Amino acid sequence: MKKRILFLMSDTGGGHRAAAEAIEEAVHALYPDAYDTCIGDLWKEHTPWPVNRIPDAYPWMAGPGVPMWKLMWAISTSMHPHKIVFPSMSPVLRRHIVRYFQAQQPDLIVSVHPLMNHLGVSLRDKAGLAHVPFVTVVTDMVSVHPTWICPDVTLCTVPTTPARELALHWGMRPEQVVVTGQPVALKFSRLSGDKVALKNALGLDPARKTVLLVGGGEGMGPVFKTARAIAQTASGGQMMVVAGRNQALKQQLDAVKWEIPTKIFGFVTNMPELMGAADILVTKAGPGTISEAFIARLPMILYGYIPGQETGNVTYVQERNAGILAEDPHEIGRLVHDWMGDYAPILQQMTRNAAALARPQAVIDIARHLHNLIEAN
Ligand code: UDP
Repeated sequence: MKKRILFLMSDTGGGHRAAAEAIEEAVHALYPDAYDTCIGDLWKEHTPWPVNRIPDAYPWMAGPGVPMWKLMWAISTSMHPHKIVFPSMSPVLRRHIVRYFQAQQPDLIVSVHPLMNHLGVSLRDKAGLAHVPFVTVVTDMVSVHPTWICPDVTLCTVPTTPARELALHWGMRPEQVVVTGQPVALKFSRLSGDKVALKNALGLDPARKTVLLVGGGEGMGPVFKTARAIAQTASGGQMMVVAGRNQALKQQLDAVKWEIPTKIFGFVTNMPELMGAADILVTKAGPGTISEAFIARLPMILYGYIPGQETGNVTYVQERNAGILAEDPHEIGRLVHDWMGDYAPILQQMTRNAAALARPQAVIDIARHLHNLIEAN
């Protein structure tokens, strides 16, 4: 009989689902027909109203609500809210999740979300599944918040060495934490590398340098202003803008008469092809997007970051000279223009540096760890 792996996540941004789907894909690729997998948004799908609506506030928190988010992050790193909030959770909420676990009867549980670890472990035990291995896959690249760290888990994987150091600092034991890299969909490492073919396939001009502008899964930050500045400055180039799930942004972008050839997308499912066709990425400092760009050999301009969980990503990219932070749209326009023209050697060096940071095997390593834990249990 097939064994069952249950992924716990929530759609706060696009990165947690992308990570779960990448691991799921790798599990099925490595061990065909061996596993049933299920990705559950524990928060939106398995808690009652109004608690299930809380994740919808994420785009606001990462936009107009940033000052509040910053404060919450600072307070919560010293107060460890999971120690107070989860034990005081309403019994109704607990019952919902315990029933879900009992119905699933998983052979292994994987959390790819910072709020699913302490909660997941404690409710797994209440569901009579204490024998089931529990794995945390940290998807924040560097700045690991204490809510990620539950020393009662069986194993914890992290994307980078600085993340491991923080995990140990927050109380994980050295033998529990492995540095695997960020789980990224296998299709990124299967890219052909033939930019001309990829540009042609997307209807782009193969002779023009191409900038890809992305605001994470939710189309967050000053994407519109940045797109306008690039179109007005980088006259010899062309542009693809991904609005993600932000429909208002998509409509705003669709209404513009662009100065350079420009393609506007909503939520795309072919990000590997878009990255493969691009020469420069302009993005929010999301860990998923950055790790994908490393594999696609794509240097980047980071137009912003969510204070707290994305702060370390900026340092990581800048210190390794795979990209730079530029928060002013006009400066971004100038940089894109320069990198496409006179400063092409900078772009080439950054392309090599980005490629050197790629960890395309991460998702395979994680899938092997999950399999080994199930076999050993
Ligand atoms: N993404 C996607 N389609 C889109 C926009 C984003 O598949 O239209 C994916 C992107 O490739 C990445 C994830 O969503 O895997 C975004 O994750 P990241 O950690 O960069 O940012 P978040 O959205 O979680 O803040």
